[in-house]
Amino acid sequence: MKTKTKAGPPLTSQRFGHGIGVSAGIAIGAAHVVEPALGAVPEYRIASGQIDKELVRFRASAQAARAQIGKLRRKARDLPSEAGDDLLLLLDAHRGMIESERLIQGVENRIRERAINAEAAVQDWVHDLAATFAAMTDPYLAARAEDVHEVGRRILLQLTDRKHVAFTSVPPGCIVVAEELSPADTALMDPSVIAGFVTTLGGADSHTAIMARSLGLPAVLGLVDMVPTIRSGDQIILDGEAGEVIVHPDAQTLADYRRRIEARQRLERQLRRLRGMPAITRDKIRVTLQANLDLPREVEVARRAGAEGVGLVRTEFLFMNRPDLPSEDEQYNALRRIVEASQGYPVTVRTIDVGGEKLATSLGDRIAAGANPALGLRAIRLALREPALLETQLAAILRAGAHGPVRILLPMISVASEIRAVRRIMAKVVRRLRRRQIAIGDPLPEVGVMIEVPGAALAADSLARESEFFAIGTNDLTMYTLAIDRGDEQVADLYDPLHPGVLRLIQLTVDAANRRGIDVSVCGEMAGNPRHATLLVGMGLRQLSMTPNSLPRVKQRIRQLDGAAAARRAQTILDQYDPERVSALLDEFIEAL
Ligand code: PEP
Ligand code: MG
Repeated sequence: MKTKTKAGPPLTSQRFGHGIGVSAGIAIGAAHVVEPALGAVPEYRIASGQIDKELVRFRASAQAARAQIGKLRRKARDLPSEAGDDLLLLLDAHRGMIESERLIQGVENRIRERAINAEAAVQDWVHDLAATFAAMTDPYLAARAEDVHEVGRRILLQLTDRKHVAFTSVPPGCIVVAEELSPADTALMDPSVIAGFVTTLGGADSHTAIMARSLGLPAVLGLVDMVPTIRSGDQIILDGEAGEVIVHPDAQTLADYRRRIEARQRLERQLRRLRGMPAITRDKIRVTLQANLDLPREVEVARRAGAEGVGLVRTEFLFMNRPDLPSEDEQYNALRRIVEASQGYPVTVRTIDVGGEKLATSLGDRIAAGANPALGLRAIRLALREPALLETQLAAILRAGAHGPVRILLPMISVASEIRAVRRIMAKVVRRLRRRQIAIGDPLPEVGVMIEVPGAALAADSLARESEFFAIGTNDLTMYTLAIDRGDEQVADLYDPLHPGVLRLIQLTVDAANRRGIDVSVCGEMAGNPRHATLLVGMGLRQLSMTPNSLPRVKQRIRQLDGAAAARRAQTILDQYDPERVSALLDEFIEAL
């Protein structure tokens, strides 16, 4: 990992910044500023028939790098300070360079004429141009060599998919500060070493945010005005609930936050006492609280939090941070550990959901960077396009089912034919495993679907006929219903799961499941938010699945509730068309608890 060593006098007076608080908790520590490490750039020759493909790969990466600079520019524009102007000038220069014919032609000619891969061509272009600039006597022009390197680095990071950072040598107790962290980066953070993190880019329900909550790491994303000014070693306070970041806190602020940390610890001790108690409302409505697992090791946290099974295993983790695909045995062993640790409670394993912002290096170029990745070859669409991938995964899940109850969950379903296609593949895998006398679960796992596409919620009746349970993915459901990217901090203020449109789709889904008599749960982030969970219970949901760290607070809330009153309030809320009114009615109900 490379630590930024940009020159400039450190600002040592106390400064406050505000971003999006995505993972609760307070951290105090020294900043550790990181940027993605490139590693070795691969160089190889390509066959003449592959040249066009290589050109497309290069253009897509240059486009992605340009889009990233665009995002940073928009942020810099909002900065009031001189730092913002400087940053804007720099980013303008980088954008100009990335759009220039000189770069595009220079790299493309190298690919065509020398039949080399895009990475090698970019590297070579950077080398030649930077050398030309560096040799100039004019100091301004000579300094442009650094810009050439920076632009090249941005394109190479996209090309090599080495956008992630390795946290192997971070100082213990530090707060990581970065421009952007992918979910895969975050998965590599060790909460016993890293105290929290802060980034410039990222939204509230991005997978990076979800991963932070899974790890119990306080985090603030979308911190517009501060990240570029923070230097490694600066002391930072981070409040992951309020979205507050304080650099160089004074003695009084430090003492205040230390008191807040103690208050949180007291609250957590109280919540721990709820562990063995059921999630039951005052009028005896029983709600089952389950865990979402983003990483296998979370199963232990889930057990300690008193989870009654696993409502969602995001199997993506098995495909991240590695160059090759996990074998059937590897997947089986990881799932088996989760099933065994769940001690007879059901484990709901979702088939791979990659694409969009969730990239998995091991899938290589199976996922091309489409114009609109969130609407592209994601999740079940990818799995059905790559049946071998799905077969391996289904085999691993079926085998894990020999060690305890397992359910199979299909992501991003939009039509019933997708479920039928999976069942056909599953039947084939079952026959193969039985023929080979390999132990699988008996009875076979139930097959359920995520309801996270608005069309699926609207057609929930037809999907209920083909599936054995529903899991409502409110994160994507909100994103697709409101056309708001869940990972984009620029529109984070518009991302609202309490929008009447989203609530009505949830209600349609619950009603369809009840008519058909199948299970329905919510496993989106709404379930782990006590405020939202209050409404969900009022809407008739009896199964909620969440990051294990959120479970005690949701349980506490359910035990305060009167279920009948919550149902009446939910009915009133569902009659509203103004999101602000929805919020006000919900808060009024909660305040009166
Ligand atoms: C969701 O979309 O709500 C969900 C649970 O899936 P993910 O967050 O993994 O997309
Ligand atoms: Mg989803």
